[in-house]
Amino acid sequence: MPVPMLDLRAQYHGIKAEIDAAVAEVFESQGFVGGPKVEGLEDAIARYLKVEHAVAVGSGTDALWLSLKAAGVHPGDEVVTSTFSFFATAGAIANTGATPVFVDIDPDTFNIDAAQVEARITKRTRAIVPVHLFGQCADMDHILELAAKYDLPVIEDAAQAIGAQYKGRFACAMGRAAALSFYPTKNLGGAGDAGMVITRDANMAQDVRMLSNHGGDSTHHHKIVGTNSRLDAIQAAVLRVKLEYLDTWNEQRRANAAFYNERFAEMPQVTTPVEGKGNYHVYHQYVIRLPQRDVARKVLGQQGVGCAVFYPMPLHQQKCFRYYGSHKTHCPQATQASQEVLALPIYPEITCEQQDEVVAAVKGHLDSL
Ligand SMILES: *Cc1c(COP(=O)(O)O)cnc(C)c1O
Repeated sequence: MPVPMLDLRAQYHGIKAEIDAAVAEVFESQGFVGGPKVEGLEDAIARYLKVEHAVAVGSGTDALWLSLKAAGVHPGDEVVTSTFSFFATAGAIANTGATPVFVDIDPDTFNIDAAQVEARITKRTRAIVPVHLFGQCADMDHILELAAKYDLPVIEDAAQAIGAQYKGRFACAMGRAAALSFYPTKNLGGAGDAGMVITRDANMAQDVRMLSNHGGDSTHHHKIVGTNSRLDAIQAAVLRVKLEYLDTWNEQRRANAAFYNERFAEMPQVTTPVEGKGNYHVYHQYVIRLPQRDVARKVLGQQGVGCAVFYPMPLHQQKCFRYYGSHKTHCPQATQASQEVLALPIYPEITCEQQDEVVAAVKGHLDSL
């Protein structure tokens, strides 16, 4: 039996009647951009995260970009972030005109090594963007301390971490602002692109809302130049239904992770994910390290077992950032991780039988070495 990396159809079929009814309401209303469904979703997410303001935008990438702009990041500034993330983290920084400054990772959690952040802060630094990678929060105590010391806003990239907690606080509730992505494969996924900015700061929320709607208010008067990054009502309708299931799905992901951990405990060559102290990890991805990763990937693929590499190249090595010499940055941990990591299927609907197949395929690879 093949095991996919993700089975969104299984999830849809579990809640099809509710989703279809919510989408049908949008068609009946013929209000497709913004409106009551979008406002309802913003309220529901803000309440869920216990943060005052939520502004729905077109994607997680835009949520990051607009948060950075609203936080006052301008061309020529520098923004400190992790070198081990999805490209959008750095892309959003670069699209403000600022320079992403990359920091190596903690090899246990794959998150930014907070102990190395201070050395990368200069007088041009305008923000810090920690990424809560794979569903686990970065070392926020340390990062918030530095942010306070240097008076820098923290913009959390929480695209992979909705529902994750750090010492009792939700991801998104710790920085000046946070970016969520509702890309279909995320823990809370829409029916297309969607994102949200979360903030406790009313001015910040207002600025993001303005930037996401051409920088103007409703009277065709524009103080600033913004963009079109509003949320579709269909996305909001789907996401509002799914939000009610998010905690259950995240718990299932955690149970699936525990299942793998137990099985892999018998295989010393496999390094399983480490949950940092005080973290409630929501396993957007379950990422192991193992020898001969590229061979393993091929072997699993041949057996119909889904797997993926997040990420095969650290951001500081990307060609597009060579113009300012980022490739000369010393990030040995991220470079090593990029060669060893393998993400295994962890979606909520996966069965124990399917997980056993994944484990057997990994064991087969190890036995053949
Ligand atoms: C998915 C993701 C984004 C971007 O979100 P989109 O909705 O795809 O634009 C940003 N950062 C991280 C870490 C992500 O995983």
